[in-house]
Amino acid sequence: MSGAANMTMTRCDWFNLDILGARMRISRIAAVLIVAAACLMLQSSLTLAQSRPPELAANSRVIIDYIDPRLQRSQATMERLKKRQVLEDLSMFLSPLKLPRVLRVRTKSCGQVNAFYVPAEWAINLCYEFYENLEAIAPNKPTPQGYTRDEVIIGGFIDAIFHELGHALFDMLNIPVFGREEDGADQLSAFLMLQFGKDVARTTIKGAAFTYLSAKNPRTRTEFAAEHGAPAQRFFNYLCLAYGGEPEAFKEFVDQNILPKSRAESCTREFHQVRRAFAKTILPHIDQDLMKRVQSIQWLRPSDGKQ
Ligand SMILES: [Zn+2]
Repeated sequence: MSGAANMTMTRCDWFNLDILGARMRISRIAAVLIVAAACLMLQSSLTLAQSRPPELAANSRVIIDYIDPRLQRSQATMERLKKRQVLEDLSMFLSPLKLPRVLRVRTKSCGQVNAFYVPAEWAINLCYEFYENLEAIAPNKPTPQGYTRDEVIIGGFIDAIFHELGHALFDMLNIPVFGREEDGADQLSAFLMLQFGKDVARTTIKGAAFTYLSAKNPRTRTEFAAEHGAPAQRFFNYLCLAYGGEPEAFKEFVDQNILPKSRAESCTREFHQVRRAFAKTILPHIDQDLMKRVQSIQWLRPSDGKQ
């Protein structure tokens, strides 16, 4: 979180924005769906028409809310997210999770480009400004490095949700975390993105990586004191876990030396470290049968990320 006023009551902003000059534009959005993670990607059009089984109930301990924006320009953003039922999907996606208390997830105006978890309220706040910024920084045409607009909007938004979900789970499930909590939340986010097949992994990881690639890195010694890793480090961390978990799907990043071989050599071990942590701390709180049903659903639609 970048606002000092919120510093004492919030944890974990997704990151302080400042991405590429962040011009906010509301015109387009694709409602991203969120939850994604779950999902099956936008690659082919055939499964498009399929949607989630209606019998998959929402998590009764997840309370969602689209809060009216303070700025008129975000009204359209809220309406698009509502129409796409982003929060409703998220609640269904979280249905296997056995929470000890109610988790609130809401979209709202924050006055800054951010997403953050508020421990005192057991609440994840997803800012309209954050989503609008993703639309602003997403390339209209695929970049020379191969990043697409859909990947950036979908992957960037899902990453924010999963990162904040990480903070929420660490808090609500009383999970001890070695190392910086911000790094742990990033690791959980990347790990979740890797649980729904190679296509979903590529869409979401690439999109998230692009946002870190685009963000400004610290320029002064003091800026390195931040809770979060520098964007450049987060970029490599996501690619490393992706390569460690799905080597074939992310091999090109190593072949092209985007992920240096010196780091790539440790990525399998890093991925297994995160997987063990997940199995030990979070998996016991997940209904396995429901989880399989969630993994079988197509969460991402080809139309997501489109205007
Ligand atoms: Zn955080």
